[in-house]
Amino acid sequence: MKLNLVCIPGDGIGPEIVAEAKKVLNRVAEKYGHEIIEKDILMGGASIDVHGVPLTEEAIAQAKAADAVLMGSIGGDTNTSPWYQLPPNLRPEAGLLALRKALNLFANLRPAYLYEELAAACPLKEEISRAGFDMLIMRELTGGLYFGERKTVEENGVRKAIDTLTYDENEIRRIAIKAFEVARKRRGKVTSVDKANVLDSSRLWRAVVNEVAADYPDVTLEHMLVDNCAMQLVKDPAQFDVILTENMFGDILSDEASMVTGSIGMLSSASLNDTKFGLYEPSHGSAPDIAGKNIANPIATVLSAAMMLRYSFDLDKEADAVEEAVRKVLKEGYRTADIMSEGCQKVSCSQMGDLLSERI
Ligand code: NAD
Repeated sequence: MKLNLVCIPGDGIGPEIVAEAKKVLNRVAEKYGHEIIEKDILMGGASIDVHGVPLTEEAIAQAKAADAVLMGSIGGDTNTSPWYQLPPNLRPEAGLLALRKALNLFANLRPAYLYEELAAACPLKEEISRAGFDMLIMRELTGGLYFGERKTVEENGVRKAIDTLTYDENEIRRIAIKAFEVARKRRGKVTSVDKANVLDSSRLWRAVVNEVAADYPDVTLEHMLVDNCAMQLVKDPAQFDVILTENMFGDILSDEASMVTGSIGMLSSASLNDTKFGLYEPSHGSAPDIAGKNIANPIATVLSAAMMLRYSFDLDKEADAVEEAVRKVLKEGYRTADIMSEGCQKVSCSQMGDLLSERI
C-alpha cells in the first residue's frame, strides 16, 4: 500500500520525536511491504521564522493533498519566545487552529491506557490501578459551547455574559458514527456522555446516538451523565472502552483521563474528518525546556503513528505491531527520563526509537 504522508516536525522537541516516529514507520513499511511517501511542511514557530506566518496557504494545500498528517508539536516558551510578542493570529498556535479548520477535523480521539509497567505513575489507589484501563475519548471538536454565539452586555448597570450551546442532528450523527466505527476496532462498547437531565442539546444528542446505534447491533451502547462520568473515571476507569461526548465535556474529561495515566509522554491523539483523513499528534506540547537534548519521550508520537495506520489506512495488524513494540520495550525495562524508575535502564529519545524499530 502507498502511504502518502505529510509530516510537521514543528518546534521544540517536535523534530526529535517525529524523527523517531518516522524511523518506526519506515521499519513497518519495510516489514509489511508498504511504500511511504513523506513530505515535511513547516508550521508554528518554524514557519514564522521562515515565512513570517505560522502556516502558509501552500502548506495547507500540501496537507490537504496527503492521506494523513503526522505532527510533533508546535510552540515555544510562552514567557520568553519572541513568537509570543506577535499578535494572536500570527502566533504558533494559530497555525494549528487554521489547519484543523481547513481540514474540517471534527472528531478528536484521545486514548488513555495504563501500562502495567508504569502503574506506579497512576495517581489512583492501587486496588483501582491494578485492574488497569484502556479507554478512548471521542470528543466533538467543532461545535457546542466553544463555537456558539456569545456576547457580554450591560442591563440596568449589571454586566451579563451569554454563551450558547448549539448542536444540530447532523453534527451529532457524524461524530456518533465515528465512535461506533472506532468501537468496532476495539472492545465494542460506547458510553455516550451528556447532561440529558438538564440540557435540550443533550436530549437531542441522546436521541441521535440511539438512532445511530441501531445500525451497530454488535456494539453495546450505554448513556451516562457527565457528572457521574467524571466520578467513574477515577472510581472504576476499567469499565470504559469508547467515551463519546460533546466538545466542552470532552475537553474536561479527556484531561482527567490523561491525568490518571500519569505519563504525559505516552499519550497519543488523532483528529479526524468524515473521510479517512486524520491529523495525528501527541497530546503533549513542544516541551521547550528539554528541546535539543535528545531526552524527550517519543512514544506518544510513535503511538500517534500507530493510530494513523489503524484509522487512516485500516492497517490494524501494523498498528498492533507498533503498540506491541511499545509494550515489549517497557517490559524489558527501557525508559526515557520522564518515565524512569529504579531498576530500569535510561535511554535517549533516539535510542528509544531504535529499540522500538528493532522490535517491529
Ligand atoms: P508541554 O506538554 O510542552 O510540557 C509540560 C511538561 O512535560 C514539561 O516539563 C515537558 O518537559 C514535559 N514533557 C512534555 N512532553 C514530553 C515528552 N515527550 N517527553 C518528556 N517530557 C515531556 O506543555 P507546556 O510546557 O505547557 O507547553 C510548551 C509549549 O507547547 C507551549 O508553547 C504550548 O503552547 C505548546 N503546546 C503545543 C501543543 C500542540 O502542539 N498541540 C499542545 C500543548 C502545548
